[in-house]
Amino acid sequence: MNVRVTSLLTFEDCPRRFFAENILGLKVPSAAADIGTAIHTVAERWYKEGKNFPGFKKAAEDEIKKFPDTLNIENVIEIAGLAKKFISVYGEGGFDYQVIPEIRLQIPVGRHTVSGQMDALFMPLFPGMPAKIVDLKTGRNRAVTKQLAIYAFLVVKSFGGIHDVLVRYEWVRLNEKDEYHYSEKNLIEIELWINQQVKQIDKALRKGEEGFTCNPGHVCAYCGYAQQCPATSGDYNPPVEDSIEDLAELPTSPELLTSEMAEKYASRLLALQGKVKQIENVLKIWTEKHGPLLVGDQAMGKFEKAAQRQFDVKKVIERCQERGLNPLEYITLSSTAAKKLERKIDLEGCYTEKPSPPTWSIKKVETVGLESTVNTVKETVEILAEDEKAVPEQPTVSSLVKDFGVFLKGAEAPQEALENVRVAYRCSESGKYDETFWDALMSAVAWQGLQNEKAQEIAYMIQQIENVAQAG
Ligand code: SF4
Repeated sequence: MNVRVTSLLTFEDCPRRFFAENILGLKVPSAAADIGTAIHTVAERWYKEGKNFPGFKKAAEDEIKKFPDTLNIENVIEIAGLAKKFISVYGEGGFDYQVIPEIRLQIPVGRHTVSGQMDALFMPLFPGMPAKIVDLKTGRNRAVTKQLAIYAFLVVKSFGGIHDVLVRYEWVRLNEKDEYHYSEKNLIEIELWINQQVKQIDKALRKGEEGFTCNPGHVCAYCGYAQQCPATSGDYNPPVEDSIEDLAELPTSPELLTSEMAEKYASRLLALQGKVKQIENVLKIWTEKHGPLLVGDQAMGKFEKAAQRQFDVKKVIERCQERGLNPLEYITLSSTAAKKLERKIDLEGCYTEKPSPPTWSIKKVETVGLESTVNTVKETVEILAEDEKAVPEQPTVSSLVKDFGVFLKGAEAPQEALENVRVAYRCSESGKYDETFWDALMSAVAWQGLQNEKAQEIAYMIQQIENVAQAG
């Protein structure tokens, strides 16, 4: 079976939903998902069709026709606008990267395969540089998942010589980005996670529908299978775990517990906690539908809560000052508010760190190397192409030098030659066609081993660069 990366994440959230979508083939109409698909297609067409591209508006109109149940003429402006924002990403390759839009990679995992389609992959043209992945996100909820870490792993596995990958979530509606760096070392954990998920899918497949357990929770709100799902209708009996009775009686003193027993109790505790959460989730959904449950003198359900007071901080400060009180002794910045503020201003130096004593807790050992975060920035996305109609660009010196570099790389030119083109490219980017530029450019072709036709092509390219440089 081929498992898409997004389906692996679905399986982690709820195996039964994975079953509904991937085995039963359930597809729920979703305007949000179709808008995302349409934006990708319009951006890809702009890239691939060049001068034949019919314009963003027309391309968006073509797309909405493919989704008559969910999209209509009112979505055209939005699709065209967001596609325009996204194409600016394609221009980021510069001289050092080759951009590959909408690439699908697939790797074998056990007797299955795992595949993922990336919005834009930037492959380095020079050794030792990281590959880059940019993924367009059209949602309004800035939630980062393992998705791009898995894509990074697919890239490392599929292309030799890539040891580092920079990934970026591009939140086009929010004009924000999240960037992460994955090295081969971080990706070992991702590989383990993928293997584990695929193994569990394989195990479930062997058992049939029963093998795909329900995991009711917040994901049910977005699940197209919720109407038919036994968990949400209250008919679901979670599989029974081994009983705790098979464990030896818990000794009265922790001193008497052997490490083997401690490990067994720890693993059973986690299983029981998982079960409690599962029962709670089922009961939450059940009581929402049927009303509260009474158990002895306890009631379970959704109850009204006392309204929370929302303070007008400005007025509170004024009131304190009227009474001669220092408001800063009473008002603090919550960590949630600080995080929000930090997206707009740098708070470095505005706080001290208070060490907190260790507390007993159960926490997940992180599998995604979030410590490898490069940065999280709020940045306005540049819109390179404002024109409704894509106009084929005139070649510039730098674009010609770039093509020349790509050509030399394809002709397996030595590293030194590529370095020289790189120097020439940097000069051309800043509009300097001086001695350094020409020296670097000409040194790039002074290497042996060229076949005649390639030499002719190089001569033609140099001629073109000269013409454009002189015209400029
Ligand atoms: S409704 Fe909830 S429990 Fe049922 S399949 Fe969907 S996500 Fe899973």
